Amino acid sequence: MTSFPLPPGSTIGVLGGGQLGRMLSLAAARLGFDVVILDPEKDSPAGRVSAHQIVTRYDDPAGLKTLGAASDVITFEFENVPADRVAQLVELGCAVAPGPRALAVAQDRAEEKTFLNAIGAPTVAFAAVDSEESLVAALAQIGVPSLLKTRRDGYDGKGQHWIEHLNEARGAWAALGGRPAILEAAADFVRELSVIAARGRDGEIACYPLSENHHEGGVLRRTVAPARVTETVRDHAEAIAAKILTGLDYVGVIGVELFELADGRLLVNEIAPRVHNTGHWTQDGCEVDQFEQHIRAIAGWPLGPTDPLAHVEMLNLLGEEAHEWRKLAGEPETRLHLYGKGEARPGRKMGHVNRLTKLG
Ligand code: AMP
Repeated sequence: MTSFPLPPGSTIGVLGGGQLGRMLSLAAARLGFDVVILDPEKDSPAGRVSAHQIVTRYDDPAGLKTLGAASDVITFEFENVPADRVAQLVELGCAVAPGPRALAVAQDRAEEKTFLNAIGAPTVAFAAVDSEESLVAALAQIGVPSLLKTRRDGYDGKGQHWIEHLNEARGAWAALGGRPAILEAAADFVRELSVIAARGRDGEIACYPLSENHHEGGVLRRTVAPARVTETVRDHAEAIAAKILTGLDYVGVIGVELFELADGRLLVNEIAPRVHNTGHWTQDGCEVDQFEQHIRAIAGWPLGPTDPLAHVEMLNLLGEEAHEWRKLAGEPETRLHLYGKGEARPGRKMGHVNRLTKLG
């Protein structure tokens, strides 16, 4: 059994070797930890900056066992790691944070919304859909316009289909490949906000200032933080985050995506049981950023302060936009973060910049 707090020199295992794993690994190294990355790709963005790599599938029992044996605590950087495999790691006696329940809830949109409503976190109206007939029934209940989403494996707007007319059930069901889905009422939001929050092993909770997020084609393009919000909105967002963290007995950083309605009410869109793209601004805008905060939480260290130091505009660098590094590096207000990915495919997240202005 691992005992906490973990001393420097301990090893942190991370499932997933993308940019989130890379930035977690860099933060962990700063606190004196070693990181071992498990990812199917050799020399993944995270693997290249970590002490060790295990190159195998996420569901390879032998690979997971090796990861478990090497790590004092295991975490993940993306939520589509098979939850039953993570549960196996727990059964083997590995410390895993956040735990398998958080992962299972976040992996299935129907379970996620059911959990959120049960703890008093409001969402849009929704109905689970598992056949064309049940989609017809769900449309009669929810109405149009509405959004059909796959229950699992959706990210960056993938696996989603808008329905404008009640007679579109067949086409919509086929468009998602007949996979289990949920139908969501359209949220009539004025803004998309998010709150990045953390919970430590002792139950302490810390929230970052809210950020305002702008998507294009389902992909995050730009975050502005701290968002200008009323005290009521901020308090409500923090109360929602606290309910989620406590309800899941969560340890680590979570991203909670919110819709702000015209009357100031907030609905939860979805939760991400990990560090989150809308929290990248904290790297240059807050006293302790989301990556270090996650490492502190899972290692059983005290959480760090989340106060803002600057106003930040975070822009994702997609595809060839990262080729602008020379120009961006020359801008005094710009902090450049590149993920070390080789091929700048269109739309691929290659890096981001944080543009700083004084708080005021
Ligand atoms: P998601 O993958 O669920 O985060 O959805 C990606 C984006 O689609 C969100 O950031 C919103 O811009 C939009 N979206 C998702 N669900 C809804 C909804 N129920 N109503 C309106 N827009 C939505």
